[in-house]
Amino acid sequence: MTKKSIKLFSRARRVIPGGVNSPVRAFRSVGGEPIFIDRAEGSVVRDVDGREYIDYVASWGPLILGHAHPAVVKALRKAARRGTSYGAPTRGEVKLAELIVEAFPAMDSVRMVNSGTEAVMSAIRLARAYTGRTGIVKFEGCYHGHADSLLVKAGSGVATLGIPGSPGVPASLAELTLTVPYNDITALRAVLDERGSDIAAVIVEPVAGNMGVIAPRPGFLRELREVTARRNILLIFDEVITGFRLAYGGAQTLYTIEPDLTCLGKIIGGGLPVGAFGGRRDIMNMLAPIGPVYQAGTLSGNPLAVAAGRATLEILQKTPDIYDDLNLKAETLCEAVKNVLQAHGIPATVNRAGSMFTLFFTPDDVTDFATAQKADTDRFARYFRGMLERGIALAPSQFEAAFVSAAHSDKDIRKTLEAFDAVLGGRT
Ligand code: PMP
Repeated sequence: MTKKSIKLFSRARRVIPGGVNSPVRAFRSVGGEPIFIDRAEGSVVRDVDGREYIDYVASWGPLILGHAHPAVVKALRKAARRGTSYGAPTRGEVKLAELIVEAFPAMDSVRMVNSGTEAVMSAIRLARAYTGRTGIVKFEGCYHGHADSLLVKAGSGVATLGIPGSPGVPASLAELTLTVPYNDITALRAVLDERGSDIAAVIVEPVAGNMGVIAPRPGFLRELREVTARRNILLIFDEVITGFRLAYGGAQTLYTIEPDLTCLGKIIGGGLPVGAFGGRRDIMNMLAPIGPVYQAGTLSGNPLAVAAGRATLEILQKTPDIYDDLNLKAETLCEAVKNVLQAHGIPATVNRAGSMFTLFFTPDDVTDFATAQKADTDRFARYFRGMLERGIALAPSQFEAAFVSAAHSDKDIRKTLEAFDAVLGGRT
C-alpha cells in the first residue's frame, strides 16, 4: 500500500543522508518507513500512494490555517509573478515587520531570517554582544534549533534519537551552555548564584513543545523574568512554535511577560522558510548596520516567504475567534482521549496548551524533560502506527506536539476520535 513511498525512500537513502532532510522524518523511533507526501489541502495530506491522512503535524506548526489555504496560495502566486528574490528591501517586509511588532508589545523592532535556528543563533550572538558575557542558560528538553551552542540537552529530534548533545560541537562552546530542568526556578537560581555574572541570556520555550507539550507552572515565567532582570541577564523567549499560535501575540501576551528578545518562525512564514528575532530597541540597535553585531542573509525577508506570512497573519488578525475555535477543537480531542484512556485503563497523561497537545504514555504528571522521558516510547510507536493506519498523521515521535489547525472540521475531529478509540482500545 505504501509501495511508492518505500521505493522513494530507498532512492532517497542513496543521495540524502538517512533519506531525509530532517532526522525525525525518518520514523526511526516509531518504526516502519516514512510516507512521502504528494500534496495537501486543508486538514488533509495525501501520500504518493494516494492514501489520505488527517494531519496533525501541520509541517511541525506553521500551518495554523491548514494546508494550501486559498489566501496564502493567492498571495504566493501574486508575489511569484513579481520576482522571487531581489536581495533588496521591499514594501512587503516592512508590512510584515509592522504586523509582528504590533502583535508583540515587547518587540520594538524585528529582523527577518530564514529559519528558527537562524533566529535563535542570531539572538544569542546579540545577547552576548549586548551584555559582554558569554554564558547562556537553557532548559533541559527545550529545543532551539541546531546551532552549536544550543545542541545541549535538547528536545525534539535530539531527544527522539537519544543523542546526548552532538559530536562536532566544540567542548569549549558547549561548556558555555548551562542547563537546568524546565519549570525549576530553584535550580535556575542556584546556577545564577554561582555563575550569574558570566551569563548573557536565559532562553526558554515559554510553553514547551519540543519534549512534548509542557506548560509553565504558575508563576514560573514571572519568576524567570524577575531573576534575569535583577542580574541584567537577557531573557529570550523562543516563540518559534508558540508565536501566533497560543495567542496572536504568543505566549508572552497570554502570560503578560515581556522578554528582552523574542524568536519567531513557523507561522510567520505561512509554511515557507522563515524566522525572525526582535526585542528592545537598545538591544536590536546593536545589529549591523546600526551597530557592530554582524548578522545578514541573502534570502532574508524573501518576498515569497513574506507574502505567505502576511497572508496568514492578516487572517489571524482579522478573525481572532480562530483561537477560541482552535482551543475548543483541541480540548474536545484531549477530553475524549482522556475518557478513552480511562475506559481502557491505559496509564497515560495528556498535556494541552491551546491548540497543541501531547499524549504521553506515562501515568505521572509530565512537567519537565525527566518526567517526559518516563513515557513508554514503544507504546507510543504502536499508537502512532495504529493512528497512521487509520488515516491520522501525528508527529512520528513521543517528544513532539500535535497541532490543531483552523482547517480541521467537526468531521475530522469525529474521525480522529474514532481512531483514538479503536487504536487505544486495542482494536487496531
Ligand atoms: N525553536 C523552537 C522552539 C522550535 O520548535 C524550532 C523548530 N522546531 C526551532 C527553534 C528551530 O526552527 P527551524 O527548524 O526553523 O530551524
